[in-house]
Amino acid sequence: MSKGFLLVLSGPSGSGKGTVSQALMQKRNDIKFSISATTRKPRPTEINGENYFFLSEDEFKHMQENNEFLESAYVHTNYYGTPKKFVFDEIEKGEIVLLEIDVQGALQIKKNYKEAVFIFLLPPTMDELRNRIVKRGTETEEDINTRFNNAFKELDFVGEYDFFVVNDKVENAVNDIEAIIHSEKLRVKRHNDIKLNVLKQGGK
Ligand code: 5GP
Repeated sequence: MSKGFLLVLSGPSGSGKGTVSQALMQKRNDIKFSISATTRKPRPTEINGENYFFLSEDEFKHMQENNEFLESAYVHTNYYGTPKKFVFDEIEKGEIVLLEIDVQGALQIKKNYKEAVFIFLLPPTMDELRNRIVKRGTETEEDINTRFNNAFKELDFVGEYDFFVVNDKVENAVNDIEAIIHSEKLRVKRHNDIKLNVLKQGGK
């Protein structure tokens, strides 16, 4: 079995990160989703502790001061952060932990965790990106514009990532991510003693 590792998925708002990661999680049980904390208000269908831990700014700052975040960032007018404990506990157990975070957070992780795998999810076109944000119907006109403008800035950082996946169809994006996971699991550095295991399995 390969060692646990971090899978960081970023991409602009509307690239479909949420849909793609849900489809990925439904398809396989070897990935644990890291639930972020945020000061954003929940959308009508979102559940506290399932989609996010919805916190007040005071609660968020308290966690920051206690060094409870692996990374945290101010994104589109709200704070977001990845609780550290869950991530480390799961990696220790050998699990793949999926973080769905923005580029600022991904860059913080890149500095400290060399073993992490970074995937950037792209929309097929910028028109399609805007359509998806508008269609979601959960953001105000102002929020839509903020998210759309931020998308252009985020695209500048694609070069910091290991892989890009185009989300033209969810199924294709999931297949691409699975291919990445498959090869990452075969990396020699993610195994402790390959020779010993071959000898054991050969009954010697
Ligand atoms: P949304 O409000 O649409 O759920 O998320 C807005 C942005 O915040 C998305 O790009 C999402 O990936 C990012 N985000 C969600 N959780 C985290 C987190 O824990 N850390 C960081 N840095 N970004 C996050």
